[in-house]
Amino acid sequence: MNTEPEQQKRWSWLGQGAALDLADTVAKNREGVYEDLLQSFSDFLGWFAVEEQWLPERYALTPADFPQILALRSAIRGAFLASVEGRKPGSQDVEALNAFAAECPAHHRLESVDGALRVVSRRDSGRPMESFLAQVAEDAISLLGGPKAQGLRLCPAPRCGMFYVLARSNQRWCSDICGNRVRVARHLKKK
Ligand SMILES: [Zn+2]
Repeated sequence: MNTEPEQQKRWSWLGQGAALDLADTVAKNREGVYEDLLQSFSDFLGWFAVEEQWLPERYALTPADFPQILALRSAIRGAFLASVEGRKPGSQDVEALNAFAAECPAHHRLESVDGALRVVSRRDSGRPMESFLAQVAEDAISLLGGPKAQGLRLCPAPRCGMFYVLARSNQRWCSDICGNRVRVARHLKKK
């Protein structure tokens, strides 16, 4: 799968890891209303193409897999939101994440990376969808159960509403773009 520049532009804000990037395919539009950016399997393929950094296995997914992908996203978003709000995640979401991860355990392989031997964690059972879902579910599990969970936030910018992990303790927005937009909006309001 090649990463077209158009796709990269369309998904330019992504780049935080597979689970966060999948969760952030639901975001606020110009009117500040949440919108689903994965309307079709082809939208999903566009997203998948820019996720090579996190999902190097090019799983051969098919349109029949789309409902399961959305089910995984729903569990991730539910658990992330609970974490942001300081609530205990719903048992349904937790069970779904664990079940997706259990579909295909990771195995460790000795591989040559940039000329040096490395232990690489691979998930490829020969069942592309299970492998994909397990890979992304485990990313969500590590985030929710690890030290990064403390820094999980929902961006309060009116046209964003996306999840992110704090890079520094006083960070208020997911990105400089959101921070600047909010400042500009405040400035215009004052005028
Ligand atoms: Zn934002």
